[in-house]
Amino acid sequence: MRPSSPLTTELKAMWHQCVLCQEHTILNVCELCESDADFIQHTLLRQNLCAVNDTVTDDYLEHDAVLNAKFDELWILGVYHYPLTYLIPALKFHGQRHFATLLAQWFVLYRVKYMTDLPQVIIPVPLHWRRFLQRGYNQAELIAQTLSQHLHIPIDKTDRDALVKRRRYTKPQSELNQEQRRQNMQHVFSVNPQAIAQYQHIVIVDDVMTTGGTINDLCKAIYRHAPHIKISVWCIGLSTIE
Ligand SMILES: [Zn+2]
Repeated sequence: MRPSSPLTTELKAMWHQCVLCQEHTILNVCELCESDADFIQHTLLRQNLCAVNDTVTDDYLEHDAVLNAKFDELWILGVYHYPLTYLIPALKFHGQRHFATLLAQWFVLYRVKYMTDLPQVIIPVPLHWRRFLQRGYNQAELIAQTLSQHLHIPIDKTDRDALVKRRRYTKPQSELNQEQRRQNMQHVFSVNPQAIAQYQHIVIVDDVMTTGGTINDLCKAIYRHAPHIKISVWCIGLSTIE
């Protein structure tokens, strides 16, 4: 067998499989799969959903997360359809941590360029320490780390000086109906009042939003200590309740 030339070896090393269709590609997701992902080109999703003109009629604007928003800006990468329905559960429940990088890179590429005002600090929605120990990582924090690297915006600490903490253990939202979800999330978060006071604009990062209840509860806790702060929310997927 003829030995491979250095160039062939180098090219082979660059080629790997698309995480969605397993075709060979030099990207994590091949161009064909990326063009299939409808979230990327959807004109409405390119915008801050809290500021979309109310003459626009679209299902996304009727969504609870938009109607009940207790924050200033909502930026979403896409509706919770394929491929997000594959990538996010794989990241969250099956240890595929590298998908956080892919999702955050898409967010930077397809959403951040439309923003005029970037936040001063990134706050991933905190997990309770018990859930953190079960899972071994916080998926929102992994997404936030890539965002932080690309945008040069610091990320909130996770130690005792963290801006926000989850102080109460809650049942997974996916196991509850709408009313149970609301009750489940009351008074879950605590805020560091001195630390939050130094910011004028923060962003909360999460993987999937359903009713927005978790994030609204976190915002209410923050506003109690910093009523004039601007809060943006960046989320990868926007889900509907089944
Ligand atoms: Zn593919």
